[in-house]
Amino acid sequence: MARLVVVSNRVPLPGQGQRAGGLAIVLQDVMDSVGLWFGWSGNTTPEGGNTVQTVTHRNTEYATIDLSEDEYQKFYIGYANSSLWPLLHFRQGLLEFRREDLEGYRAVNQLYSKSLQPLLQPDDLIWVHDYHLIPMGGQLRRLGVRNRVGFYLHIPFVPHSVFSALPQGDRLLQDMCEYDVVGFQTEEHRADFLDTVRQTLGHDITGDGVIHVPGRPVQTIVAPVGIDGLAFGRQAERAARSKNNKRLMDSLNHRHLMIGVDRLDYSKGLPNRFEAFNRLLTRFPEHSQHVSYLQVAVPSREEVTEYAQLRPILNRMAGDINGRHGTFDWVPLRYMSQGVSRSTLAGFHRVSRVGLVTPLRDGMNLVAHEYVAAQNPEDPGVLVLSRFAGAASYLQDALIVNPNDPDEIAEAMHTAFTMPLQERRLRHARLFESVLRLTARSYCNTFLNALSNKPGG
Ligand code: UDP
Repeated sequence: MARLVVVSNRVPLPGQGQRAGGLAIVLQDVMDSVGLWFGWSGNTTPEGGNTVQTVTHRNTEYATIDLSEDEYQKFYIGYANSSLWPLLHFRQGLLEFRREDLEGYRAVNQLYSKSLQPLLQPDDLIWVHDYHLIPMGGQLRRLGVRNRVGFYLHIPFVPHSVFSALPQGDRLLQDMCEYDVVGFQTEEHRADFLDTVRQTLGHDITGDGVIHVPGRPVQTIVAPVGIDGLAFGRQAERAARSKNNKRLMDSLNHRHLMIGVDRLDYSKGLPNRFEAFNRLLTRFPEHSQHVSYLQVAVPSREEVTEYAQLRPILNRMAGDINGRHGTFDWVPLRYMSQGVSRSTLAGFHRVSRVGLVTPLRDGMNLVAHEYVAAQNPEDPGVLVLSRFAGAASYLQDALIVNPNDPDEIAEAMHTAFTMPLQERRLRHARLFESVLRLTARSYCNTFLNALSNKPGG
């Protein structure tokens, strides 16, 4: 069997603990099939990426490079997270573009490609992940790599009219067309990509999603990420008996819990969600004193201005809500801007009557899957889910909301808290089936079948 080489912006080295973030979690479930994982170590050093460090753990070789501070700023903070991330989350108004950042992005991709090339074997399947590394496919080709190379975009793709706001966007599309296989979370993301390629580059595209770049086909596929729902459910069952859960339950004092778990990112729609909670307590005062909302918001990318600006906004909103609605013995909103381990969260999800996943846009959103998987089927909680999360394409039995309307979210919260047990069970049973269909393994198999050119891939 061919060796699988995974390339991602950052490599979670064994023994460094679990980092919040979807990709590391998805690949963790299929680590036994990965021969080499290559990427950035997460360290910045004055000399940057001159040497490759390797460490082997359980049959997987981890190879990493460092970046210099300047490379990190231009590549990661600049182009990847100040240009591409906002644009591909439909936030054209937040897009910041500087040519030196774009050149830094390409230079770091070239550094990755040049450092990876000597480590490759002729039969390797190479799987490049996410928006940080789009140019790598073409760069590897120009370095003489003849292997099959695939690319997977974890975040959304946008319609042509939005994409065309990106300076030199056509170059990026050409880069994506250098791969043998390009994968997306949903049919909508893929359709927007194909339409953008058709309108910008003029390539022919056939009904099976193959782009006919002169001389070679590029296959596009939909391969949604998922989790191991059964294992997560067992973890939740165990965690529900833990000390942390007991402390949480004691503190609730028989009130219903509503939970949200997100990175502190403007794409997650947190201000609207806080405002929705404010409106729930104002418009449906019967919930006053009877519900507690726990929001875990892990800080991320704090060097990007928009992320730094979000934190004081949420602090103020949380203070306003608790000041306005709280009483001497009830704090309505518990807001934590620190991470919580995934296993502890599993237990918290299990005892929450409502799970809130209301991003303004999201590639998939694994928390939605985790919330469903963690529930007790006999007495399950209700998922409130944004129609603009990739997960909404698959978890249609959630209460689907438009995250731009705090009133609509508040109404869904009210519906969730008052939903009869029978309906909760019915919705949960269907949702859980969907979660079990989309596993980390099925995601990898779909992608790798296409990459290795197997029929049905
Ligand atoms: N997560 C975690 N601890 C936290 C917050 C999040 O372990 O305090 C995990 C969460 O359970 C999920 C992942 O981080 O597995 C976030 O993935 P998701 O797809 O929801 O969003 P992303 O961060 O990739 O945008």
